[in-house]
Amino acid sequence: MKNKKDKMTVIIISTLLLVVIGFIVTIVLCAQSNKKISELTSDYNVLKTEVEELKVYKEKLETGNSAQAKTAEIQNSETPDESETVTASALDMVNIPAGTIIEGEKIDSENLSQYFCSYEIPEDVITRISGKSYRENDDIGLDELRYLKLLHYNFSGQIQMGELIVNAAVVDDILEIFQQLYQNQYQIESMYLVDNYWIENGEKTDTNSIEHNNTSAFCYREQTGGGVLSNHALGRAIDINPQQNPYVSFSSGSPYWYHDNADAYIDRESGALHMITHDDLCYQLFIQHGFKWGGDWTSPKDYQHFEKE
Ligand SMILES: [Zn+2]
Repeated sequence: MKNKKDKMTVIIISTLLLVVIGFIVTIVLCAQSNKKISELTSDYNVLKTEVEELKVYKEKLETGNSAQAKTAEIQNSETPDESETVTASALDMVNIPAGTIIEGEKIDSENLSQYFCSYEIPEDVITRISGKSYRENDDIGLDELRYLKLLHYNFSGQIQMGELIVNAAVVDDILEIFQQLYQNQYQIESMYLVDNYWIENGEKTDTNSIEHNNTSAFCYREQTGGGVLSNHALGRAIDINPQQNPYVSFSSGSPYWYHDNADAYIDRESGALHMITHDDLCYQLFIQHGFKWGGDWTSPKDYQHFEKE
């Protein structure tokens, strides 16, 4: 019996021990897993924080990139590239003297009208023309005239500065015509005010200007031959390349001309360069703008002359 009792005691103690051990093990395991959980939680929190930081960093990067892209965009639109800087440079038209050769690269061919300019007669020009092509009169006032600066091709194919004085009423026509002539590289030898050739009076000056094959418009003078005021006196007539387009009289039946330098240009069918004919662009443009051509007169024939009343 005692043995049996002892056995039972051993069993009970063993069971209790097992329970206690199991309890301890469970507690230890729980503690460990709790520790693990808290570690994991802590790791998760660290990762979460890192993800948040990465998000912020990514946003910063994106904003930075778009800001950079925006800056580049602005730079592209506001900072012209070098070729643009060269071609877009505006010429100081009024202050560049007539006869100046202009480099083609300086011309902004997309905006040509800026090179075909009209001004009220500037003070320095008034000084140049007073007592010469202009004098006090009852027919035309300085306020009715305009000083033009424009580009043309010369006989060497270079771009050259030209100047003209015309009546304010024909300014738009003249500027449009000369811009079209320029666009078609129509050659005009020179274009200075007649005052550059002034000798004594209007008629001698006109002769001198023609001898230099100068294209000009305004000159307060009578018509060639005298008596009647010329349309040049009102700034409503212009003479183009007068050497190749001479004034020819037929009053004696056969052609008569005043300038020896025109000998090669009396035969209007010769096809020589720079002669104005009905096929010529210059003729066509002036006619389109309502001008009359001296080449269509019977006698004299004034091939250089266009006028609009
Ligand atoms: Zn004329």
